[in-house]
This record gives sequence, C-alpha cells and structure tokens, in this order.
Amino acid sequence: MSDAKGVLYVVGIGPGAHDHVTPAATRAIADAELVVGYTTYIKLVSELIRGKEIVRTGMTEEIGRARTAVERARDGAKVALISSGDAGVYGMAGLVFQVLRDLGWKRGNSPKLHIIPGVTALSSCASLMGAPLVHDFCAISLSDLLTPWPVITRRIEAAAQADFVIGLYNPASGRRTRQIVEAQSIIRKYRDGATPVALVKSAYRKMQHAVLTDVDHFLDYEIGMLTTVLVGSSNTYVFEGYMVTPRGYTNKYTTEGEVLPGQRPGYSLVLAGSPEPAGRE
Ligand code: SAH
Repeated sequence: MSDAKGVLYVVGIGPGAHDHVTPAATRAIADAELVVGYTTYIKLVSELIRGKEIVRTGMTEEIGRARTAVERARDGAKVALISSGDAGVYGMAGLVFQVLRDLGWKRGNSPKLHIIPGVTALSSCASLMGAPLVHDFCAISLSDLLTPWPVITRRIEAAAQADFVIGLYNPASGRRTRQIVEAQSIIRKYRDGATPVALVKSAYRKMQHAVLTDVDHFLDYEIGMLTTVLVGSSNTYVFEGYMVTPRGYTNKYTTEGEVLPGQRPGYSLVLAGSPEPAGRE
C-alpha cells in the first residue's frame, strides 16, 4: 500500500438551495482539490467550487463516479464526491464502500474517509408541507432499476398495513410510470381515500412545486423524477393547508399542558382497559 495521504469526503449537499448546504459540507468542498458529481449537483454548488478540478458525469455513470473519486483519493488527492440530499440516503455512500471493498481498502489506509450528512429529501419536502413526519415514518424507493419490484411491493404493503407515514423516493421517471400507480392501489387497501398526500417537486430549487392532495386523487397530478411523495398515516390531518401528523401529546395532555386522568408523564401511555403502564421511557 502506498503512503499517499488522500482524503475522500462523501458530501450530501441538501435539496438544492445554497442555504441548505451545511457548514461542514461547505468546508469539505472548500478543502477538496477535486470535486466529483452528477452534472446537476455540480451546478447547484457552482459558487463553492470555482478553480477546482471537476469531474462531472451523467446520471447512469454512478459506478464510474464512485470509482474515480475513490481511486484519485487513494492516490493522494483530496476529493469531494457530492450527492444530493444526504449521500447516505439512496446516495453515493453505498457505492463508495463497494469500491473500497473491491480494492481491499482497510481503515488507516489512504484515503481517509469523511462522510458528511446532508438534508435529505424527506426532511426538506416535509418542511415545505408542515409537519408530516412527526410520528413513525418510513422511506421506500420505487425505483426497480436495481431492486426487484416484488420486494418493493412487499415493503409498500407492510408499511401501509403498519400505518407508517410513507415517503416515496424515485416515484416515477419518464419511462417508469407504472410503479406509482401500483403503489397507490396497495396503499388504498389500507388507508382511507381522504388521507392527506403531498407531492413535492424540486424542493428548495428554482422549479419548486408542492401539491397537497389525498390518496384517492394524487395520481391526477404530475409525478416525476424530482418528486417526493409523502403519504399520511391514519392520524395525519390538514390544517390551514399544512400536512400534520401529531406526535400523540393529546393522548396524555390537554393543550394547556394538564395531564389527563389516569396518565403519568414519563411513563408509557395507559390504554383504556389496561391495568398498569408498561414502564418508564
Ligand atoms: N440522496 C438523496 C436521494 C436521492 S434518490 C436525498 O437524500 O435526498 C432521488 C430522489 O430523491 C428523487 O427521485 C426524489 O424522490 C428525491 N429528491 C431528491 N431531491 C429532491 C428535491 N429537491 N425535491 C424533491 N424530491 C427530491
């Protein structure tokens, strides 16, 4: 192994707007000599990367991008591999580890690895809609390019049945339009047709567009590669155009903060008919 002292930053740059790039991500990009990323994301951080060497590639060249970033860093360069949102959420971080494994990399070898978190689409899209993720939620990608469709439908089914708020990443693309239709029919089996659904396109980018609709009607709107779909749980409601999933405070407290009869702060919620709280949190 060479004694090169390369550094690889795997950087999530958030949804798009410069304000949502974290200071740590900005510092990592500033420290890099070489920036590798998909063309659109390179454009989103163009003010941060002037004067640096740039390797930009198309959407389908992810393996090549990860390989270039890892190899150049291994050979001694300081490299930032950038990904939208959080690089560890349907992002480049997974491929980086695959390439490192293939190369027989060990901790302590070059490159030194820094994974910098970013604001993922679920968080950025939720913030535009109100507070839809305040109770249990899960993320499912509808892309079947690398995952078999029956695996994906099983997860949609389980999430819908278990009453999670569901965030759908990669809901559709130009060619891939069937998946979201099938997802809706699975969700409809378990959820009321009036359950709130948000479609958020290009959050915090120039073309930002958000629609608040419901399970029965969301297919009437445009859904594409830059859309994240947020499907409410049975508790999710609409208030003043916001989508809100309550945490459950009203099960235990009045809105004035008084504890309801039979409940104890710091203890498990007492259900009607159950003798004793299960235990302290
Ligand atoms: N690593 C990214 C996700 C990449 S998968 C992240 O953490 O956000 C690509 C999918 O993410 C898109 O199909 C879309 O569903 C979602 N997405 C990414 N950026 C978005 C944005 N600005 N607005 C809405 N959805 C976005």
